[in-house]
Amino acid sequence: MITASPAARLSPPGADWRELWRSAVTDPRELLETVGLGHLADRLPPDDAGFALRVPRGFVDRMRVGDPQDPLLLQVLPQLAELDQVTGFGTDAVGDMAARTAQGVLHKYQGRALLIASGSCAVNCRYCFRRHFPYGEEMAAAGQWRKALEHVRQDASISELILSGGDPLALATAKLEELSQGLAAIPHVTRLRIHTRLPVVLPERIDEAFQNWLTRLPLQKVVVLHANHANEFDAKVDAACTRLRETGTTVLNQAVLLRGINDDAETLEALSERLFAAGVLPYYLHQLDRVQGAAHFEVSDERALELLDALRRRLPGYLVPKLVREVGGDASKRPL
Ligand SMILES: *Cc1c(COP(=O)(O)O)cnc(C)c1O
Ligand code: SF4
Repeated sequence: MITASPAARLSPPGADWRELWRSAVTDPRELLETVGLGHLADRLPPDDAGFALRVPRGFVDRMRVGDPQDPLLLQVLPQLAELDQVTGFGTDAVGDMAARTAQGVLHKYQGRALLIASGSCAVNCRYCFRRHFPYGEEMAAAGQWRKALEHVRQDASISELILSGGDPLALATAKLEELSQGLAAIPHVTRLRIHTRLPVVLPERIDEAFQNWLTRLPLQKVVVLHANHANEFDAKVDAACTRLRETGTTVLNQAVLLRGINDDAETLEALSERLFAAGVLPYYLHQLDRVQGAAHFEVSDERALELLDALRRRLPGYLVPKLVREVGGDASKRPL
C-alpha cells in the first residue's frame, strides 16, 4: 500500500549542511528498507552498477513509502538495466572532452564559459553523464582556479561565467568567495551563473553565509536549479528558493525528460506549476544525454515533441520549458 511519507522521517532538524551531506544514504539496501521496499533488494545490480548510490536523507523523506515506481526513488536507485550495453550510448555523450580549453574550463558557446568547479554531488542521479566523466583531471576546484580564471581573463568575449560540475555548491562558501574575488577583477565578466541541484536535494546548503556571499557579489546572478518532478519540492526547498531570490538572483530550472519518471503531460505540467509556486521559472527540458547505463530512461523525440505540444496547450508560455538536446560541436543547445 502507498502512504504519504511522514514528515522528517530521516533528516534531523536544523543540522548543518555539511553534516547532512556526510550523513547521506549510500547503501541501496538501507534506502529500500527506509521506503518500505526491503523485499526488492535481490533486484539490485552488483557493485551499484559501477556508480555509487548517494542520496541525502531529506530527499528520501519526500519519497512515497511502498511505491517501487516513486519518481524520486527511480532517479537514484541502481537498476539492473544500467548494465545493458546499448549501441549509441557512450562515455562522452556530449563531446565535452573536445571542448576543453583549459583545465576545468569548457568553452563551447559564444560569450559563456563553463567552469567545472567541483566533481562532487550530494546526490548521484542514475541518468547523469557524470558517471563517466574523468573528474580527477578536470576539477578546476583542485587548485586550478588560477589557470581557469586566466583563460577567462584573456578572452574578452566571455561575459558570463557558469559554475557547474558536479555541483559547484559542494564547495565551501569561503572557496566560492575566493573564486568570486578573482572574477570581480575581470571587467568583461558581468554575469555569474550557477548550475546546482543542491537547493532541491539539500536545501540547507542555502544558509546565511551563502546568502550573504551571493547578496554582496557585484555581478548579475542566475541560479539554474535541477528538479525533474513536482514531488522534489517541499517547504524546505521553497524556503531555499526564497532565500536565493532574496539575494537578487534570477532562479530558473532545468529538467531532464526521463522515461517512467516525468514523461507524461500531467507530470510536466505539475512540475512547471510547482516551480512557479516556488518562484522559479522553467528554462530547459533536456533530452537525455546518451550515456552508457542510462538507455532505459530515454524518451523518443516523437514522444518528447508530443509532450511539449501538450504543455503549450495547457500552460502559459512562460511555464513551457525549451525542449533541447546537447549535440557535440553545435554552437548552442539544439532545439527539438
Ligand atoms: C549548456 C552549456 C552552456 C549554457 O548554455 P545556455 O544555452 O546558455 O544555457 C554553456 N556552456 C556549456 C559547455 C554548456 O554545456
Ligand atoms: S551533476 Fe547534476 S545530474 Fe549529475 S549527479 Fe550531480 S546533481 Fe545529479
